Amino acid sequence: MASAALVLFSAGQDSATCLAWALDRFDRVETIGFAYGQRHAVELTQRPALRHAIAAANPLWGDRLGGDLVVDLGGYGALAESALTADRAIEIAESGLPTTFVPARNLVFLTVAAAHAYRRGIDVLVGGMCETDYSGYPDCRRETLDAQERALALGLDRPVSIVTPLMHLTKAQTWALAQELGGRALVDVIIEQSHTCYEGDRSLRHDWGYGCGSCPACVLRAQGFHAWQASD
Ligand code: ZN
Repeated sequence: MASAALVLFSAGQDSATCLAWALDRFDRVETIGFAYGQRHAVELTQRPALRHAIAAANPLWGDRLGGDLVVDLGGYGALAESALTADRAIEIAESGLPTTFVPARNLVFLTVAAAHAYRRGIDVLVGGMCETDYSGYPDCRRETLDAQERALALGLDRPVSIVTPLMHLTKAQTWALAQELGGRALVDVIIEQSHTCYEGDRSLRHDWGYGCGSCPACVLRAQGFHAWQASD
């Protein structure tokens, strides 16, 4: 039987790398994304170009890339109000978490993705969650995902795998993985087409891609890129 995977694809650097990783391994790969009122909604407009550019990086990948679905979760975004969905400052809150933390975001995304995957006959979900350089988001921890994997498998009465190829990689290692999967061509696609900046800024072009250059997402992406270049 042909293998299939559904990639949680936000059009950021991490999910772009995850899509290439999945295209390298599975016979059929579909993508899903979420509109939840994020202030960097520009990532939604980058999806089609980025998907096609990644698939074009390897002749095999183009044949494997299947459909894309963007699910409207505006109601969830409104109730999970944070600095990512509302016009609030990005800083560290009293809880110790950045105000960009959207409560239960990955749990919601993975549940909706699992429902779509179920209907598509897919039992592997691929996500770019990462424990290494992360901002302390508790729903990025592998332990959280292990528990959710089990809850979904029980609730759907079908095996479900949540695969997280970036879980233990630094941002520099994520750039290295892109190079390993698709060479400089894929790295260039990710630089040009992926979007990470929380502010939704695509007017400034840096050596690591587009963004404001100062929000936490830009800083992490820039640091990782320069660390990778220094080690390469
Ligand atoms: Zn930024």
